[in-house]
Amino acid sequence: MRSGPTKKILVTGGAGFLGSHLCERLLGEGHEVLCVDNFFTGSRKNIVHLLSHPNFELKRHDVTFPLYVEVDEIYNLACPASPVHYQFDPVQTTKTSVIGAINMLGLAKRVKARILQASTSEVYGDPEVHPQAETYWGRVNPIGFRSCYDEGKRCAETLFFDYQRQHGVAIRVARIFNTYGPRMQPNDGRVVSNMILQALRNEDITLYGDGLQTRSFCYVDDLVEGLIRLMNAGPDVSGPINLGNPGEFTIRQLAETIVDLSRSRSRLTFRPLPPDDPRQRKPDITLAKDLLAWTPTVALREGLGRTMSYFEAFTRDESRGRSG
Ligand code: NAD
Ligand code: UDP
Ligand code: UDP
Repeated sequence: MRSGPTKKILVTGGAGFLGSHLCERLLGEGHEVLCVDNFFTGSRKNIVHLLSHPNFELKRHDVTFPLYVEVDEIYNLACPASPVHYQFDPVQTTKTSVIGAINMLGLAKRVKARILQASTSEVYGDPEVHPQAETYWGRVNPIGFRSCYDEGKRCAETLFFDYQRQHGVAIRVARIFNTYGPRMQPNDGRVVSNMILQALRNEDITLYGDGLQTRSFCYVDDLVEGLIRLMNAGPDVSGPINLGNPGEFTIRQLAETIVDLSRSRSRLTFRPLPPDDPRQRKPDITLAKDLLAWTPTVALREGLGRTMSYFEAFTRDESRGRSG
């Protein structure tokens, strides 16, 4: 199924978790896809099944350096997304968000491409407003461990809106809330991948803090659908627009659901809460419903089941590797 004429589409961060699903979906719609990635957190494995596709091209490149290509649309997803990875080299994280945005916006300006930024619910920080609507300006620590990511993404949003106002670039800004699904990296410390792997290995499930903090979890296919709808919306729709599943769960509820689904013998164990960990998070998606006619369709248990199947295959390969 194709949503319109065939386009040349650049996906930065295309070898990552979300990017690989997006590339797959865009190819499925008949577009030409140029995937640009420096493989910091992404991997060839995520896109190996696309390499032989005649409309797919892969380029190893770091978006903090200029990029000269000819494209019609740009999805700017390049940036490590999990706290473990974005805090590994925080200066590079800020550079990726800020200099990466400048380069991709410069490219969009030159070739007159529409450009979508993968922003984040982290721009709301540890919010005093619940649920979070796009009108809320956020409560972000500018000097903490999470700041390289949060402030980098906030500055990227500023750049997007300034390129729109100053240079007339056609922009789209999506504020993505916690998303999960197959191809999440097993070692990136995010809660869904951590807990599924712990459950499958019958290891203790690690709850940080009291486990009563909340998150809203969106299945990857729903999210990709939202990104594509936002990119293809009418010219007045720049965003920012929240994309996420408004179902809100405590981390403890998530752990219990995963143990139940996997019939695991794992027990819950408590660890210290990382600094600046937001207490609650739930998107207000009224705008996405109204402007994009978008709403998530995959319930948490269903999405966790699909993700678990992926990780089951992963742990099988892992144990085969160990014994062989
Ligand atoms: P990911 O880490 O799997 O993917 C990020 C990709 O960007 C990786 O392939 C990585 O190698 C690449 N990359 C990093 N720095 C780069 C650079 N300087 N140049 C080129 N490529 C670079 O993460 P993800 O979950 O797929 O996230 C994709 C985007 O969505 C990110 O921008 C992230 O901030 C945003 N986002 C994700 C979530 C989520 O829950 N997954 C939530 C909010 C926002
Ligand atoms: N840029 C790029 N690809 C392009 C055009 C520009 O990577 O096709 C980079 C360029 O290196 C510059 C940045 O984007 O640093 C911003 O470009 P812009 O034209 O806005 O600013 P200027 O070149 O005037 O600094
Ligand atoms: N978390 C947890 N156990 C884990 C990993 C994470 O309790 O093994 C918690 C973490 O402290 C946070 C929530 O789960 O409150 C979501 O963490 P994640 O790193 O997935 O995303 P983010 O904090 O960026 O929303």
